[in-house]
Amino acid sequence: MIFILKSVVKFILNETKVHYPLETGGMLLGYLKEKNYYILDIIDAGPEAIHKTDYFLPDGKYQQPILEQKFFKSNGKVTFLGDWHSHPKADSYLSKLDMETLKNISEDEGAQINCPIFIIIGTSPLNICGFNYDNGIYQELALKII
Ligand SMILES: [Zn+2]
Repeated sequence: MIFILKSVVKFILNETKVHYPLETGGMLLGYLKEKNYYILDIIDAGPEAIHKTDYFLPDGKYQQPILEQKFFKSNGKVTFLGDWHSHPKADSYLSKLDMETLKNISEDEGAQINCPIFIIIGTSPLNICGFNYDNGIYQELALKII
């Protein structure tokens, strides 16, 4: 299951609205405990992010130092869990490209998580879904707002 703070969901909804009809997204931060993900914080896409109607690329140079800062400030409790992004005018499904990206994150040593998650917010209909990739398997996970 994915537990997500209400404030994070609000942020995601707002960012999706601000960039609509273009895609946006960002990093999901928190911790993993007994196969449950706890999302406590988020990092926005950044000023140099690329937003298209069906594509989005975050500003990694902007995100990385913020991630490090949040990691140290939390004494290592808050780490990178995965990404979120919007699907303007589409449903919140895991696309083929999303699957590839998720798998790549799991194999990226720098990301330091072998079972990353994706949260996808679709706007038609408005819906938020969570997915993970763990040991070669993609799975939709229940989302609980806390
Ligand atoms: Zn997608």
